[in-house]
Amino acid sequence: MRVFGITGWKNSGKTGLMERLVAHFTAKGLRVSTLKHTHHGVDLERPGTDTHRHREAGGQEVVLASSARVSILHELRETDEPRLTDLIARLTPCDLVLVEGFKSAPHPKIEAHRAATGEALLAPKNQTIRAVASDTPLPALDLPVFDLDDTKAIAAFIEVATGLTRRDAPRLANDCFALPPGVNWTPVDDALTTLRDRLHPVTGTERVPVAKAHDRILATDHVAVRANPPGANAAVDGYGFAYAGLPAGDVIQMPLVDDRAAAGAPFNGTVPMGHAIRILTGALLPDGVDTVVMQEDVQIDDNTLSFPAGIKPGANARAAGEDVKAGKLALPAGHKMRAPDVALLSALGLSDAQVHCRLRVGVLSTGDELAAPGTTLDPARTYDANRPMLLSLVENWGYTPVDLGHVKDDRDELRQAFDDAASRADVILTSGGASAGDEDHVSALLDQTGSLHHWRIAIKPGRPLALAQWNDTPVFGLPGNPVAALVTTLVFARPALSVLAGGNWLTPQAFNLPAAFAKSKKPGRREYLRARLNDDDHVEVFQSEGSGRISGLSWATGLVELPDGAADIKPGTPVRYLPYSGFGLT
Ligand code: AMP
Ligand code: MG
Repeated sequence: MRVFGITGWKNSGKTGLMERLVAHFTAKGLRVSTLKHTHHGVDLERPGTDTHRHREAGGQEVVLASSARVSILHELRETDEPRLTDLIARLTPCDLVLVEGFKSAPHPKIEAHRAATGEALLAPKNQTIRAVASDTPLPALDLPVFDLDDTKAIAAFIEVATGLTRRDAPRLANDCFALPPGVNWTPVDDALTTLRDRLHPVTGTERVPVAKAHDRILATDHVAVRANPPGANAAVDGYGFAYAGLPAGDVIQMPLVDDRAAAGAPFNGTVPMGHAIRILTGALLPDGVDTVVMQEDVQIDDNTLSFPAGIKPGANARAAGEDVKAGKLALPAGHKMRAPDVALLSALGLSDAQVHCRLRVGVLSTGDELAAPGTTLDPARTYDANRPMLLSLVENWGYTPVDLGHVKDDRDELRQAFDDAASRADVILTSGGASAGDEDHVSALLDQTGSLHHWRIAIKPGRPLALAQWNDTPVFGLPGNPVAALVTTLVFARPALSVLAGGNWLTPQAFNLPAAFAKSKKPGRREYLRARLNDDDHVEVFQSEGSGRISGLSWATGLVELPDGAADIKPGTPVRYLPYSGFGLT
């Protein structure tokens, strides 16, 4: 989450500034949360109140709830004072976290300053302070100085500093979801090709430390600032020398230089021809050394090194840049950073990476029948399973999940939800109500935008996908049935989201493995079955293909993909197994 702070001495106007900024950003439609540091002993509640008594009695978390707000008090007994990052982790994802206080924490901040406090500025000594907001003109500072009351200018500064000004990427074409005319049932591959051709990144970019770039998508090519390895060095612990200076004979004998070369502690002299030097793994090869003999292969007597002849020139030595040369492409734009990539860029001297802002993926559930899990025993109500499933997938994929809640089958409520969604998310996933039936309000409403297209895709399980744009924000209307919702999300939404996020088009990993089942399939639709591997690495499928069987999704470790055409599968017939992990589902 984007975090920005306001700091300053007591009575410097911090809280007033916080208040004005929160009002400013929320008026712009951003979701803002705040965090405030206070001193030990200062509390929200007065002694003797009910919650105070609950906590004093030993309650770990105490919730005080009314119809207006919910306060959660979490007791810290015998634990260290939590760090800002731990506190932020407790917040519901939002667009911006404004922090009051915490002046020693590393997040960027503005110092509020009032001359009347009589205090000297914190800014010159605190590197995390990026600007000052003061009620009086200040002597020349190396930082921007704002008028403490100029909320608009201060807010604009925060937007740039946090990368909140982000809609600088090109919009999608107006009718990007139109299918070629005349097509009745679109084959899966054609639907995928259409998405691939029409979509492009919709997020802005920002700079982040490489160490924090896990899961982020590179926005530019990243080249090596320095070679790896930066200098020729020893690959083993042993003794180094110039190959050209080796004496003849079956057993080589050489005098040792009275010094050594170690990693981080190079030998800066020159090793004379015909001499050797003790050298340790990773040490730069000193002048006069191009070859290293392993310590296991040698004998040392009286400062003389002996080993059998036959070593090759350059043995056990790594050349400078043999892995990556300076200036060479390390990772291309579109690459999604994983732990090994963090290692690579770090080794090549890159401390920051230019990445796409995280794609904000809004998830909305629709349907009068839906209820939050566990809130009712009415058998006419269905617990909302899609929203938590989709939000967890979005998080899995490294995007920012935006929970847009559940909306009844009500046109006005739905319109409001879409307006809200379009201001908080870069792409919207809805589930339910996406066909063309009477109660399918999602379809009906999206149809009014003029951008709606029902994709009747030849896929099982699946119903028509509703694709549209709401105020320029792409909407994927997924089937309500959780099995169909998951399959269509994995097959269509996953590669589409990757492209919208600035990444590559993704095709799932597939293995041809023998079936442990029999099935005869008619031509016409591509089918996905819930599957997993048995002990012999044969693919078994869930006992029932019933599309309401959510337990099968959870039972499975992947999907079997049966081709568009007819298929006659017997035990042993190779089938395409697509593990969940290959869909980035972990
Ligand atoms: P629909 O696409 O709205 O016709 O819904 C198809 C089926 O999926 C119905 O049985 C719905 O109750 C069910 N359904 C829709 N949304 C969800 C959801 N979020 N979680 C679980 N089931 C759902
Ligand atoms: Mg419905």
